[in-house]
Amino acid sequence: SAVLEMRGISKSFPGIRALSDVDLVVDAGEVHAIVGENGAGKSTLMKILAGVYQPDEGAILLGGAPVRITGPIDARKRGIGMVYQELNLVPDLTVAENITLGATPARFGLVQRRRLHEEAAAVLDALDARISPTALLGSLTVSQQQIVEIAKAYAQRPSIIVLDEPTSSLSEHESQALFQVVRRMREDGIAIIYISHRLREVLDLADRVTVLRDGRQIETRDSAGLTAGEMIRLMVGRDLTDVFP
Ligand code: ADP
Ligand code: MG
Ligand code: MG
Repeated sequence: SAVLEMRGISKSFPGIRALSDVDLVVDAGEVHAIVGENGAGKSTLMKILAGVYQPDEGAILLGGAPVRITGPIDARKRGIGMVYQELNLVPDLTVAENITLGATPARFGLVQRRRLHEEAAAVLDALDARISPTALLGSLTVSQQQIVEIAKAYAQRPSIIVLDEPTSSLSEHESQALFQVVRRMREDGIAIIYISHRLREVLDLADRVTVLRDGRQIETRDSAGLTAGEMIRLMVGRDLTDVFP
């Protein structure tokens, strides 16, 4: 059954209808990609899920129960992990310290610190064992830092993780370790929402794909059998086979 249902979501900003009657249903252990051109409404939909915006119309259900997500802290408490493309990490701290940053109150005993450190090490072990919990964050590659950002969200034991363009600053080669991390989280039963402009990686990773165009939901379908050319046609609303044969 669905971990997340967003039903009939609409949202306007002054002078622009950013989302019109959009549905998004995501199951446990599913990678659900959202694709669309710049301005299609992808980030707005995810900011509604994160409690940053309230929808003008529509409902959100978590595990079948209607909820009102009042803000980002509420979203996190409800098991929604957001990973934005801008890294929110501290270079002079260790990997483990960065992962536990969100969970660490200002004054904290040594025993609790040690337990959090062990938890961070376990999370890394599950996601990417090549990253050392004791390494300084600033000594890692950009790709590894992006994985630490994901590990930080994963450490909160979310049921849903949203990755908004996680590979946009990575090469195709650098993205491979991150894809492995996404697959491991899927095996763990997490519902993953994956936003990307890179259609080939979407076809490679996603179980289902939702295409948005000008705030409208053009299509939601299994990625099996879908081609990059077909996705471009859905995204831009016309045939571009003369441009991308
Ligand atoms: P995407 O993530 O697909 O590139 P966005 O969801 O960021 O698209 O934006 C959808 C549309 O809504 C765009 O036209 C954008 O300019 C507009 N928009 C997004 N956020 C705001 C805002 N806070 N105020 C006004 N317009 C916004
Ligand atoms: Mg954008
Ligand atoms: Mg966006």
